[in-house]
Amino acid sequence: MDLKQFVTIVEDWPKPGIKFKDITTLMDNGDAYRYATDQIVAYAKDREIDIIVGPEARGFIIGCPVAYSLGVGFAPVRKEGKLPREVVKVNYGLEYGSDVLTIHKDAIKPGQRVLITDDLLATGGTIDATIKLVEELGGVVAGIAFLIELTYLDGRDKLDGYDILTLMQY
Ligand code: IMP
Repeated sequence: MDLKQFVTIVEDWPKPGIKFKDITTLMDNGDAYRYATDQIVAYAKDREIDIIVGPEARGFIIGCPVAYSLGVGFAPVRKEGKLPREVVKVNYGLEYGSDVLTIHKDAIKPGQRVLITDDLLATGGTIDATIKLVEELGGVVAGIAFLIELTYLDGRDKLDGYDILTLMQY
């Protein structure tokens, strides 16, 4: 299936000059959403995954159906102040300024094999921060899966040494 036909390119959003990749038109098509999920499930099956980790909010949309299909858990990575119990935190750089991501301290057991999921790889900053959280808890990043990779931003270079699956490239 050609998944790109289900992605809507929104010109000049959220800022002039940006061509935003809107995946909601992929998710609201049951066949396309299942097909994309199945590709990631097949990738995960080769990697003996114990748990899926994804950053809010679109990392949940990709990761949760994969977790359900594999019969493993899902641990959310969230912005500061959203998780109710003890967390570990990481600062990460944004285009302007920085932000903080958190994960519950007991979400991953040392040695667990983790699949990280998100909708889109741009500069790699979000997933680089997510990797730091997983590794701080002793998790092993066994794979990283995205729907979309913006190849011209070279996010892969930032994630050097990790195994990455992307279903579409722009
Ligand atoms: P990075 O941290 O620079 O790799 O940016 C990736 C994050 O920004 C992901 O969590 C995406 O959800 C979001 N993002 C950046 N550009 C787009 C886009 O064109 N469509 C959807 N999400 C985007």
